[in-house]
Amino acid sequence: MVEAFAVASGKGGTGKTTSTLALGMALAEEYDVTVIDADTGMANLLFHAGLDDADVTLHDLLIEERDASIDDAVYERFGMSVVPCGTSLASFEAADPERLRDVVAELASDTDVLLLDSPAALGSKSAVLPIVLADRIVVVLQPTVPSLSDGLKVQEYAHSYGTDTAGVLFNRVRPDEDVDTIAEQAGRYFGGQTLASIPESDAVRAARRAGEPLLAHASDDPAADAFREAAARLDVRDGDGRDVAQRFKSAVVPDRV
Ligand code: ADP
Ligand code: MG
Repeated sequence: MVEAFAVASGKGGTGKTTSTLALGMALAEEYDVTVIDADTGMANLLFHAGLDDADVTLHDLLIEERDASIDDAVYERFGMSVVPCGTSLASFEAADPERLRDVVAELASDTDVLLLDSPAALGSKSAVLPIVLADRIVVVLQPTVPSLSDGLKVQEYAHSYGTDTAGVLFNRVRPDEDVDTIAEQAGRYFGGQTLASIPESDAVRAARRAGEPLLAHASDDPAADAFREAAARLDVRDGDGRDVAQRFKSAVVPDRV
């Protein structure tokens, strides 16, 4: 195990799931990558990865009585190990977020890079857990000042639990947008690097409709190039899998939310 990243943002719909799978596929060229849909209340990674008919999902692992084994919730897709989450509200309500620590710890012991597709809000235990557990966050933003300010809140929260920032990913950037000025502000406020600016792209929407990650559906699209550039800038750190697993197991889940 090398490193765990939470892909986060202050709002839904910014492109976290798109980014999680795109970064995952780019990193899978070099590393063993495991992608987990840790957005357990608003899961949608299954639709992006063609796993909407998955039998066993993360929800089953978070509900003790279902007695599911971790291996059954791991699907080998697009060169990665993918752990989708179900969309049932009843399962979300029955799920014990604390169990996520053990699931992630177990998965961490047998992979190089963990990517946690994370919830947008900070309002509950299940929402903050991925950010608390990860080594670093990737902040996905639209290139606007309100989006920056939401992202800063997420970062502040992450830092208060010792999670660093890997960088900022600007998504859905239109040609007329002045991303440089925003990126300059982001550099100043986030103190982290801009990983890439991902253009608004029809191919991203088409990939979602096809149930495939962008890099599988339209590998030559400029948005796919930008995600590969971002992945190269992540500069994955070396770490001992057992240490990381141990850290996850013993992580204190905040009660302050
Ligand atoms: P989140 O996980 O943050 O809620 P998604 O990754 O599911 O966001 O993206 C939300 C919607 O926006 C999806 O329909 C997706 O196809 C679309 N989308 C994301 N990024 C782009 C982009 N760069 N260009 C066009 N559409 C995009
Ligand atoms: Mg999502």
